[in-house]
Amino acid sequence: MSTILRIAIQKSGRLSEDSLKLIKECGIRFDNGAGKLKTSATNFPAEILFLRDDDIPGYVEDGVAHIGIVGENVSEETHRDVDTVHKLGFSKCRLSIGVLREHDYKGVQDLEGKSIATTYPRLLGEYLKANSVHANIHEISGSVEIAPSIGLADAVCDIVSSGSTLLSNGLKEVETIFRSEAVLIASKHLSEGQKELMDQLLFRIKSVQVAKNNKYILLNCPQDAVDNIIKFLPGMRSPTILPLAQEGWCSLHSVINENDFWENIEKIRQAGAEGILVIPIEKMIL
Ligand code: ATP
Ligand code: MG
Repeated sequence: MSTILRIAIQKSGRLSEDSLKLIKECGIRFDNGAGKLKTSATNFPAEILFLRDDDIPGYVEDGVAHIGIVGENVSEETHRDVDTVHKLGFSKCRLSIGVLREHDYKGVQDLEGKSIATTYPRLLGEYLKANSVHANIHEISGSVEIAPSIGLADAVCDIVSSGSTLLSNGLKEVETIFRSEAVLIASKHLSEGQKELMDQLLFRIKSVQVAKNNKYILLNCPQDAVDNIIKFLPGMRSPTILPLAQEGWCSLHSVINENDFWENIEKIRQAGAEGILVIPIEKMIL
């Protein structure tokens, strides 16, 4: 039987859209008809399983799925025996402790003897232990933010991104205990063939990620400004320089990191560049 890589992703939730997008950007085509729990790729030996995110680490540990995309928060909380292979850069959030806004919070010792509602008892327990605080962890399965205002707990420990959910429930964020993003996890028992397929996918993922952070830049400049401008545009090996029809002018093409672009754009302009175009790159193989 030929080898197939089984990839688990979240069926519907905050990870789903970006997980699907990443797989598609890696050139893997499949039909994800609504409500499907499993689909086969048409141009890569892979199957995609659509699951609840909490179940993904367990399926990967058992080898039912070979790899999976899940939040680090869930992967760490479930504490399954899987490899974390690569950070994926999306679904960034943090696990934080929140207390009622009127609470005059001074530090983590204030939590001594308090009750804290959470869906992350393991990560919270580790954090409290590391800070030598004894608190009562109240595990609930959802709607954590409401716990303090209905008298169920003194504090909460939950996922935060903007903090607006905490605020709208009369809470303030006082400690960040874990920073998370989506990660690729893998079973520890992959066959050679499965490993090879995962490496192929990982190579594509990295090419997509590098491309996202870089832009293709074209500009016109006088011939004698080239040396100055090149200092800010080292490119992959070195920039391409093409003559313009107008004597003494050239077109310079290079690749630039998005962050460097904003830092250097003024210097590039002052050095004599004009007609600057910045174009997204779809894939980048280093
Ligand atoms: P499921 O039904 O699959 O169990 P869920 O309700 O447990 O889904 P979601 O709310 O979809 O989970 O969140 C999935 C993951 O997305 C979280 O574990 C976390 O890693 C990340 N996440 C959660 N909230 C945010 C947010 N506000 N911004 C960015 N990422 C987030
Ligand atoms: Mg879940």
